[in-house]
Amino acid sequence: MTAEQRVQSVDEGKPAGVWSEFFEAVKPLVSAATRIVHEERLGTKTTMRVGGAARIYAEPASVADLQVLLREARAGGGEVLMLGRGSNVIVPDEGVDGLVVSLAHQAWSSFEPREDGRVAVGAGLRLKNLCGLAAKAGLVGFEFLEGIPGNVGGALRMNAGAMGAWMFDVVEEVQLMTRAGEVRTLTKAAMHVGYRHCEELHQAIALGALLRPATRSDAETVKRQMDAYSRKRHESQPREPSAGCIFRNPPGNSAGRLIDESGLKGARVGDAEVSPTHANFIVNRGSATAADVIALVRRVRARVREVKGVDLEPEVLLFGKEWKDVL
Ligand SMILES: Cc1cc2nc3c(=O)[nH]c(=O)nc-3n(C[C@H](O)[C@H](O)[C@H](O)COP(=O)(O)OP(=O)(O)OC[C@H]3O[C@@H](n4cnc5c(N)ncnc54)[C@H](O)[C@@H]3O)c2cc1C
Repeated sequence: MTAEQRVQSVDEGKPAGVWSEFFEAVKPLVSAATRIVHEERLGTKTTMRVGGAARIYAEPASVADLQVLLREARAGGGEVLMLGRGSNVIVPDEGVDGLVVSLAHQAWSSFEPREDGRVAVGAGLRLKNLCGLAAKAGLVGFEFLEGIPGNVGGALRMNAGAMGAWMFDVVEEVQLMTRAGEVRTLTKAAMHVGYRHCEELHQAIALGALLRPATRSDAETVKRQMDAYSRKRHESQPREPSAGCIFRNPPGNSAGRLIDESGLKGARVGDAEVSPTHANFIVNRGSATAADVIALVRRVRARVREVKGVDLEPEVLLFGKEWKDVL
């Protein structure tokens, strides 16, 4: 890549030819099991079902292939973004000028219980499968994850939580890869986590984690608790495509209640709607665009500020962008 192209890649996005060069350079370096393609549409890989394509999209089949992708992208100055199950992101309509990496390959979906009850899981393991396998093994403590539509990597990055617990309550160690391709293991004590936040994973990529259950029981009991949580979710959350709670709860307050009391349930921009079931969900009624969702986020924030005097901050991430640039 010439110096001129390098500058352009940082300032204005890479020209298509440079991504082609990246693709041609990387393809022979990764194993045949790694999927790598141009212009992959991302909307259907997210639960909100909006947004454009990734210039390059890859599903690495191994640690070595992920290292190759990261190192080549770094050498070319290109941006790399991780995509989990896409349940906490809005992909912009124009797509993403970068390499989007997903740990969707089976190699990242491991679930390995140890003698002492601890379980090593891959970052690509769906939370739904984690819950199912934990229940089968009689491991207590993961029930709160039932119904969160992400994978382990996304749940670690977001410190996903529900029913009074969050992901890092059950984490002992996280195995991660730095952007330079170095593999490290960090104990929970060495990590900085909080509400929907894990500082280390803003940059590094989670490869897997060692989880510790609270205790052991029989499969039936664990399953019964999961079913109870699942019922609670079904009663309180909309069924339409969404990205979960759109705003963070302000300290000591509920974003959903503030939005509801501002009279916004059912408010619409195009096919994006503030759910009448749960005011902190924006749902896609069919053919919403990312622009519709962003415009509705803007409208909700403005109204809640006017009526309640509270500035709501999005919990959902704008993929490859910063909310402050569009709000
Ligand atoms: C119907 C519905 C209900 C929901 N309920 C809840 C809930 O109860 N509690 C809750 O906390 N959330 C909830 N969510 C939001 C969402 O499911 C969680 O935030 C989930 O943890 C996101 O995981 P994901 O795999 O989909 O990540 P994505 O949405 O794909 O990504 C989220 C972030 O994680 C990063 N990321 C993904 N994989 C990795 C990795 N391996 N390493 C480093 N970074 C990575 C991405 O780059 C992005 O920044 C809900 C969403 C929906 C649609």
